[in-house]
Amino acid sequence: MTGSSYDIIIRGGEIIDGTGAPRYRADLAVRDGRIAAIGQFEGNAGRTIDASGRVVAPGFIDVHAHDDAAVLSTPMDFKLMQGVTTDIVGNCGAGIAPALTGGARGLPGVEIVLGPLPEATWETFGEFMDAVDAAHPAINVACLIPHGIVRARALGMESRPPDEHELAQMCDDVAEGMSAGAVGLSTGLIYVPGTFAQTDEIVALARAAAEAGGIYVSHIRNESERLLEAVGEAISIGKDAGLPAQISHHKSSDRPNWGRTVESIALIELEVANGTDVTFDVYPYTAGSTILAAARGVQREIEPEMIMVASVKEKREYEGRNLAQIAEMLGMDPNDGPAIVSRVLSDEPAAVAVFFSMDEADVRRVMSHPLCMIGSDGIPSPTGKPHPRLHGTFPRVIARYSREAGLFSLEEAVRKMSGFPARRFNLRERGELREGWVADIVVFDPEAIADRATYEDPRQYPAGIDCVIVNGEVAAQAGAQTSTRAGRVLRRGS
Ligand SMILES: [Zn+2]
Repeated sequence: MTGSSYDIIIRGGEIIDGTGAPRYRADLAVRDGRIAAIGQFEGNAGRTIDASGRVVAPGFIDVHAHDDAAVLSTPMDFKLMQGVTTDIVGNCGAGIAPALTGGARGLPGVEIVLGPLPEATWETFGEFMDAVDAAHPAINVACLIPHGIVRARALGMESRPPDEHELAQMCDDVAEGMSAGAVGLSTGLIYVPGTFAQTDEIVALARAAAEAGGIYVSHIRNESERLLEAVGEAISIGKDAGLPAQISHHKSSDRPNWGRTVESIALIELEVANGTDVTFDVYPYTAGSTILAAARGVQREIEPEMIMVASVKEKREYEGRNLAQIAEMLGMDPNDGPAIVSRVLSDEPAAVAVFFSMDEADVRRVMSHPLCMIGSDGIPSPTGKPHPRLHGTFPRVIARYSREAGLFSLEEAVRKMSGFPARRFNLRERGELREGWVADIVVFDPEAIADRATYEDPRQYPAGIDCVIVNGEVAAQAGAQTSTRAGRVLRRGS
């Protein structure tokens, strides 16, 4: 009897299938982009990967990416090398499509968060998705429609509710994106112009996403003193619009609010017990990162040594220094947080900063919860010292929180990064290792996998990842990216 012929056979590994089920020893074969066989089988292959002592898992899914521009213009090595095979972009209400009137490719200053913006060849959201496909990204990309752009198209940066005509235009934009295959709608309710939206505006747009089977994903209106109210708003939008809701990078920021994820999770659990469909995600760090301008005008006290400037356009000497150090450099009072923030912003209006604002206990509580999945929130700045989550998130969850802290099993860590998000975001036949499903696969050493990116030296690939396969093709092996660009746009339900 002669065996079949396969493209790749991965021999002797422990299969962790992405459902949370216990691992088991088996070989896995890939043919024509799909998983052709799992178990013990005869056959030969163009390529054999020895996975003895290794885990074979579904490629990781980053549910909270800001790589809208990076997928068009970079090799996406910072995600691929972590074992990520799919990015979900368009988060926090920010993105680069549909096109703004007057030819702008995104909201003012967005390039320092999203990286350099490529030439816009699109008008509609669907055309943007086509452009991503045509760029042959190294990983797969699913897209959320960013509320901030949709709002700016209809009423610019005005702080007022839309009129009937403007709201209809916004709903049309959402419907267009959904019909092109977006997976849902995102909001960023602390950012301009998202913050100008009242709840009923978002419900109307979320209904347009709901009609097409989408999800509502939110950077909620407040993640500190008004956390519970903001979680409540996100839940009510999901309920009123009739669609699943996802709370992005769930946290409780600023020292006086530490510990309040006990209450926010209790609120979510109560809603879920009553039949509401709500989930959340987290990144595995106690520091966040966003535009420094987010620290302006906040009521809380600013602790200058807890805010580090990550990337700027000109004043590179600010990068990697905290506000107290910058104050000393400039001969200012290192305790006067608001004054230093104003000064840095006057030099660098689009500065991105790292905010050491969370408590480790909150991070662990959120991450351990079965309703929580993993999203990096990585900011792909080409300059400076981006938050290490850009290069380290997925290996760090496995190394630090599963293997070292023992918060959950390796099988559960993998589920949070693959099977769970695939189902949540409607990525069909992905996220689990099953015969006939798409071959997005990562092979790693469960003892050696670890993040190496630090705040001081963030551009470090992780350790312990042997091989990453995207749509059946080897995209990274032995710590290096291959020339393969096998990613594609994943359109909802197809
Ligand atoms: Zn956000």
